[in-house]
Amino acid sequence: MKSSRSSCTFCALIADRQIRAESEAAVAFPDAYPVTSDHTLIVPKRHVRSVFELSESEQADLWNLVARVRGDLATNNPNRDFTVGVNDGEAAGQTVDHAHVHVIPRRAGDVPDPRGGIRWVLPEKADYWSGSEDAR
Ligand code: 5GP
Ligand code: ZN
Repeated sequence: MKSSRSSCTFCALIADRQIRAESEAAVAFPDAYPVTSDHTLIVPKRHVRSVFELSESEQADLWNLVARVRGDLATNNPNRDFTVGVNDGEAAGQTVDHAHVHVIPRRAGDVPDPRGGIRWVLPEKADYWSGSEDAR
């Protein structure tokens, strides 16, 4: 995982004001390698590794910006659903050590079978609905 505030890509983007939306304690900018179009990252202004290192008020502010960005994206295209998520730590898939929330617009048919969503972080456990013993 990339490390340290001085070399942090996200701190640099915030300093350069390369942002799409802003609240008191957080910013939003487009993901540079979007999973779907309009994939957006909500990022605390303060460099912390985990969103749970933020104060309660910073967390509330961050979540409010998540809701605002999601709302704007939904308003602009009512047919969208969303995958909203946090990779909280390296073992959980985090690759940039400045905390962030992914807002990933989803559209019907963007994968053949979307059931389970984030459960697919562990593919062999994801499918619990097929009823087979192997899915448990
Ligand atoms: P993570 O794996 O830490 O949850 O997600 C990191 C995210 O940051 C990835 O979705 C990746 O595409 C995005 N990302 C990596 N480098 C940059 C960058 O330089 N600029 C922006 N805007 N996004 C980046
Ligand atoms: Zn940072």
